Amino acid sequence: MKTIAVANQKGGVGKTTTAVNLGTSLAAMGYKVLLVDADPQGDLSSYLGYTGAANSATISDLMESVISDEPAPEMVMHHEEQVDFIPSDIGLSDMEVRLVNVMAQALEPFKDKYDYCLIDCMPSLGILTVASLVAADRVLIPVQAQHFALKGVVSLFKSINQITRRIKPELEIDGIVLTMVDRRTNLSKDVCAALRSSYGYALKIYRTEIPISTRTAESASSAHSVLSYDASGAASVAYKTFHLLCCPTPRDVSASADTVSRRQ
Ligand code: ATP
Ligand code: MG
Repeated sequence: MKTIAVANQKGGVGKTTTAVNLGTSLAAMGYKVLLVDADPQGDLSSYLGYTGAANSATISDLMESVISDEPAPEMVMHHEEQVDFIPSDIGLSDMEVRLVNVMAQALEPFKDKYDYCLIDCMPSLGILTVASLVAADRVLIPVQAQHFALKGVVSLFKSINQITRRIKPELEIDGIVLTMVDRRTNLSKDVCAALRSSYGYALKIYRTEIPISTRTAESASSAHSVLSYDASGAASVAYKTFHLLCCPTPRDVSASADTVSRRQ
């Protein structure tokens, strides 16, 4: 199982939307995908229609069981678009203090069962995000196409550097995906071009941009990904193209496709 943390401490940049739609897109290709809601706000869980009504266990119950060495509760939910997910709720915020390695330990038993795990991080650089990064192989950073967009990314890089120095040398920065891009406005086009020319040499900024679309925002309250809510829409197409770059099929990985995608 390859684990990708979707992180940016700036709020509202498209982390949850990217996790849900990259995940369902991979699932539609036949991959087994586990989504983990690591945000006490529980946005990913509610995007997938989870209400907590059944009193089902959450990621914090699972982490608690790891800490106290008790059997894991049943907490994996299944969504009709063939993704599984571990929900979260506000209870997760109590866990913060105890936890640098516990997310990694909590996910260990899933390693043989899934191809990809996408962790939707909360908008902060607190311990929950650190624990999620420690559990990840790489970090994907959604950035909203607007001025000063990369300012916060610098502090994220500092945290990632600390984690690679002190805890997990293997953690890699995957790249940046530009979200909510409005190609009809010069501002959005200028910002994307400026980001690419200023940072493109040092960072992988994916060629595929996720366009802004009302249907995407609507999909979040429909309990469906935009891939099924608006199958032929621009955002669906973009997420499908993006998934091929971000998570190339296994047979492409060993060959040139990986090198190509790493440069994009
Ligand atoms: P938080 O930091 O609060 O966790 P986030 O980074 O996870 O936020 P999202 O919740 O994915 O961001 O997106 C923020 C808002 O923007 C949501 O209302 C979402 O529906 C909307 N949104 C995300 N992507 C798009 C898009 N491509 N077009 C239009 N709206 C979008
Ligand atoms: Mg979110």
